[in-house]
Amino acid sequence: MGVRPLIRFLRVVLAALAGLTLAGAPALAQDRRPLILISIDGFRAEYLERGLTPTLGALAEGGVRARAMRPSFPVNTYPNHYSLVTGLRPDRHGLTDNTMIDAARPELKFSMGARDQVQDRFWWDGGEPIWVTAERQGVKAATLFWPGSEAPVHGVRPSIWQLYDETLPAFDRVDRLLGWLDLPAGERPGLMALYFETVDTIGHHEGPDSPELNAAVRTVDLSLARLVAGLKARGLLDQVNIVIVSDHGMAPISPDRLIVLDEQYPADAFRWITMGSMAGLIPADAGAERLLVGRHDHYECWRKGEMPARLKYGSHPRIPPVMCLADTGWTLTTRERQSQRPMTRPGGAHGYDPEDPMMQAIFIAHGPAFRPGVVLAPFDNVSVYPLLARLLDLTPAPNDGDPADTAAALR
Ligand code: AMP
Ligand code: ZN
Ligand code: ZN
Repeated sequence: MGVRPLIRFLRVVLAALAGLTLAGAPALAQDRRPLILISIDGFRAEYLERGLTPTLGALAEGGVRARAMRPSFPVNTYPNHYSLVTGLRPDRHGLTDNTMIDAARPELKFSMGARDQVQDRFWWDGGEPIWVTAERQGVKAATLFWPGSEAPVHGVRPSIWQLYDETLPAFDRVDRLLGWLDLPAGERPGLMALYFETVDTIGHHEGPDSPELNAAVRTVDLSLARLVAGLKARGLLDQVNIVIVSDHGMAPISPDRLIVLDEQYPADAFRWITMGSMAGLIPADAGAERLLVGRHDHYECWRKGEMPARLKYGSHPRIPPVMCLADTGWTLTTRERQSQRPMTRPGGAHGYDPEDPMMQAIFIAHGPAFRPGVVLAPFDNVSVYPLLARLLDLTPAPNDGDPADTAAALR
């Protein structure tokens, strides 16, 4: 028996001897502090240096931050939110992109807007999200919007969850979380997850260098200030552990940087599944595939099994046979798409090379588990899950993360 399982075992024995169940032990006991996990969608690492985020700055100063956190490929919302909470690369957990097909359901397309698919565990069962790990090991979880939290993954749902509702104001989300902390000890969740989309939404519409984006960053920081104030008022700021992450960054895009694929290939050379900073293509035949594969002006395409090893992507059956990646700031499209949903003005996008500085995400942590003032070297976002499991004293499911990435942050 390893040291941690041994400690867990001894704790159970001691609790039993004292006539206590673990659930009956004080919820804020030293051993299992509540853990708050927050995602700020599309919060680029560099945004922290704009002097707009006093709350995030204070949490990092009194706790831990990473110089940057590397997203997993593909650098989109669903794949990365699921990597953060499962510790698996998208190639393994199966959320291979925001939009997917699966041979087992040939008539269907998974997309963020396909509500019945988003709520179907079929798409999510390739990974074990931290709230399932928690619930299976007796720790209640509450989620307020996290991709995957609307499906009964492996048959398990968070004790508290809600269908995604973009219109729920950020302050109300914070108040909901504070309300969870006010629940009686037996009902209070040990793991609480919160999600904010506005920085991503505005980043797409107005671009990462716009005043509107800066305003959105300020707004999210104000929401976090409300959370910190609520925790202070309850005497909990130094009792709970808080982990704040983002899924990816944002790069400026422009109608001046379009790659219209069907102007470069015969009209029937391919069908497409995804299009944008990346394109997932199904070539018509081997000849079309040969034309597509290789380096071209402002983009590169690979057969799925031949992608660069550093992307750790290409084996999952849901990945289309040919994947193209645009150079940062360029957009892959088709004539039809440009006529239906034309890009008419500059904006923002992600989905580019995970090494690009503009794609880097944030990691900030605060609370009794963390050593104040530590600045971690950039690490891969799959290492967040094993950290979360450790903070909750849970046995993690098998994952691609490395506990050593965050070890220096822990007391
Ligand atoms: P992306 O297209 O990768 O930029 O995805 C970001 C978008 O995902 C945001 O605009 C959110 O509104 C949306 N989103 C996040 N979570 C959910 C969810 N659970 N259901 C539907 N849409 C979501
Ligand atoms: Zn996102
Ligand atoms: Zn986005």
